[in-house]
Amino acid sequence: MNFELNDTQKLIQQTFKKFVDEKVKPAAAEIDEKKEFPAELFKEVGELGFFGMRYPEEAGGTGTGIMSYCLALVELARGSMSLAAPCMMQSLMATYFLYRDGDEEVRENYFTPALDGTKIGGICMTEPNAGSDLSGITTIAKVFDDHFELSGQKTWATSAPYADFFSVYSRTDNHDKPSFFLVPAHYKGVHVGRNIEKLGVRGSITSEVTFDEVRLPKNYLLGEIGGGARGLIEILAEIRIMTAALAIGAATAAYEDAIEYAKTRVQFGRPIGKFQAIKAKAADMAVMLETSKQMLYYTAWLCDEDKPRQKEAAIVKLYASECANSICDEASRILASYGYAMEYPIQRYWRDVRFTLFGGGTNEILKINIARELGL
Ligand SMILES: Cc1cc2nc3c(=O)[nH]c(=O)nc-3n(C[C@H](O)[C@H](O)[C@H](O)COP(=O)(O)OP(=O)(O)OC[C@H]3O[C@@H](n4cnc5c(N)ncnc54)[C@H](O)[C@@H]3O)c2cc1C
Repeated sequence: MNFELNDTQKLIQQTFKKFVDEKVKPAAAEIDEKKEFPAELFKEVGELGFFGMRYPEEAGGTGTGIMSYCLALVELARGSMSLAAPCMMQSLMATYFLYRDGDEEVRENYFTPALDGTKIGGICMTEPNAGSDLSGITTIAKVFDDHFELSGQKTWATSAPYADFFSVYSRTDNHDKPSFFLVPAHYKGVHVGRNIEKLGVRGSITSEVTFDEVRLPKNYLLGEIGGGARGLIEILAEIRIMTAALAIGAATAAYEDAIEYAKTRVQFGRPIGKFQAIKAKAADMAVMLETSKQMLYYTAWLCDEDKPRQKEAAIVKLYASECANSICDEASRILASYGYAMEYPIQRYWRDVRFTLFGGGTNEILKINIARELGL
C-alpha cells in the first residue's frame, strides 16, 4: 500500500490548514461563547469546495474523494467543532439522498445550491422516542395520488433554525419501512422549535422540528417507498469515518496545545515536559493520535477504492472517538488548573469531543455492530 498523499491531497490539506489557522482558530472561542452558528465561515468552507468533495464532477462536485475530504475535515475540526460538525452534515447526510434520487427540479433548487453553501440542509432522523432505534420512528407521510402529507416530531436536528431544507426520515401509511423525503423549510406546517442547550459544539445549533400536515409533491420522495433504511446503510460507513475525522481534529488541537504547554510551563526550575509523568502522558497521547490517524487514512482509502468497509468504519469511529476523549482529558490534566479555565481552549476541546462518542452511532451500538461482523 502506498502511504504517500498525492499532490491533490497535499494541496487540499494545506489549503484547509491555512484557512483554519488564519480564520477559524481565531474565531473559535467566540463562536462557542456566543453559541452562534458561524454563517460566514460556513459559506467560506462552501467556497473552498468542501461540500462537493464527496460528489462526482458530473453532479457538480469536485470528485476529490473521501481521503481528501477527511484531511480537510480533520483540519476544520482542529479549528472549531462548531463549524466542522454542520459542515459534515451538509456534505453527506443532508444532501446524499437529493444527489442520489432527486430529479432535475430537486437538484437545481436544493442539491446544487447546497454544494457551495448557498443553501443549508438539515437531516431529521432522531425523534424524542427514537434515537439509536430508528425503527421506532412515528413520523408518517400519508400517500395521496398527487402528493404526500407528512406529520411528526423530530429532535436534535443540526442547523435547523437556518436550514433551507431537510432530508426527513419518515414512514408512509402504505409501508412498514421508512423512506426519505425532501422537506423545504419554508413550507406550510414546518415549525422549528426550541434549540437544545448543549455541553459542547455550542455554535452548531440543534433543534426540535415539527411537521404538521406538510404537503409535499411526489418528486420530494427520495428513492423508493420503504427504501430509507437501505439508503442509510449505503452511507453508514462514511458517516462513521467522518465522525472519526471530527474526533481526530479536536484531539489534534488538544494534543498540540498540551505539548506546547509542557515545553513552556516551568515548575521546580524546569519545563513540566521534563518530568516523567508528563512525558508518559505525552507519549500515550501521541500513540492514540497516530494510531487513530492511520486507521482513518486506511478506512478513507477503502472508501476511495470502493472496498468493503463496514467493520473497519465501525472500528475507526469507536477507537478514534474513545482515544480523542482520552487525549482531551490528558491534555486537560497537563494544563491542570489552566485546562479548567474558560480562557484556555482545552475545556472547549474536552466538551466538544464528547459528541463523537454518540454522533454517528453510539459506541455501545458500534460494539454490537462489530461483534456482528465477527459472526457473533
Ligand atoms: C450534537 C448532536 C448533533 C446531532 N445532530 C443530529 C441531526 O442532525 N439529526 C438527527 O437526526 N440526529 C442528530 N443527533 C442525534 C443523535 O444521532 C442521537 O442522539 C444518537 O443517535 C443517539 O440517540 P439517543 O441520544 O436517543 O440515545 P439512545 O438511543 O436512547 O441510547 C441511550 C443509551 O442506551 C444505549 N443503547 C441503546 N440501544 C442499545 C442496544 N441495543 N444495546 C446496547 N446499548 C444500547 C446507547 O448506546 C446509549 O448509551 C445529534 C446529537 C448530538 C448530540
